[in-house]
Amino acid sequence: MSPIKITVLHTGYIHIFPKRLEDGYNVFKAFGIATPREDWLWLPVSSYLIEHPRGLILYDAGWGRNMSPRGVYDRKAQIDALGSYLLYKINQGVVEKGMTAKEQLAQMGIKPEDIDYLILSHLDCDHAQGTKDLFGVKNVLLAKDEYRFARKFNIINRIRYHSRWIRGMPVTFFDWNSSDGPFHRSYDLFGDNTVQLISLPGHSPGHIGLKVRDMNGKYVIMYGDCGYTSKSWQLAQPSGIAVNRKKQIQSLKWIREESINPYCIESMGNHDPEVHPHVLTL
Ligand SMILES: [Zn+2]
Repeated sequence: MSPIKITVLHTGYIHIFPKRLEDGYNVFKAFGIATPREDWLWLPVSSYLIEHPRGLILYDAGWGRNMSPRGVYDRKAQIDALGSYLLYKINQGVVEKGMTAKEQLAQMGIKPEDIDYLILSHLDCDHAQGTKDLFGVKNVLLAKDEYRFARKFNIINRIRYHSRWIRGMPVTFFDWNSSDGPFHRSYDLFGDNTVQLISLPGHSPGHIGLKVRDMNGKYVIMYGDCGYTSKSWQLAQPSGIAVNRKKQIQSLKWIREESINPYCIESMGNHDPEVHPHVLTL
């Protein structure tokens, strides 16, 4: 089999309340009223291009261009793009010119139409809001569990999720067809174990990570928001919003085991400031 190439892209930055990296945080604390804005953190927002012999995959869409129409922080544009003032209060973003997933793919000569699968780790805005920028992708994959949860009516979900980010896109809500991961629930994309979409619940119920493996068993783990940094799995410490803290700890323990395995080439969280854009080959 030809090599699998993974390109780690930074598709903008997210501005968050620092306690979001720690245990015990919840969505109400996310407003960070007691913490001055200058103490908030800017963290990268990542997307990953996976050039696999059986198709082109993009894992997470990142922010859309409409978050920063002129490439700089734009309060009014963000409230419109996020569709909610409250969501804007929790998450601000910046996408410099040329930085969206679509713009970076174009620099590589890749059009949205060339992408076989856009896989969304979950439906939070910094992962799904840019989906429509990629209009033309052949398939968008989202775990059925995530969609089911996002549709449940409660006040937090109404702040957190906006269906218009994915409306009109060719979304497949997939169910598990394989048994990898901490809960023995995964989706084997090509049926050959080279791309497993792993159920890593906790941060959100249908959150998925990716395990990309070559024929010799070497692999790369991309764990999305299951942990914000490697410290999260080293300490099995839930970070960010944990809808189910117990499940997130179980997910983190699995990431830890996988990350310290000698066959693991690299293990990456979506917002880890120590993970810079780079290319790796399996
Ligand atoms: Zn995120």
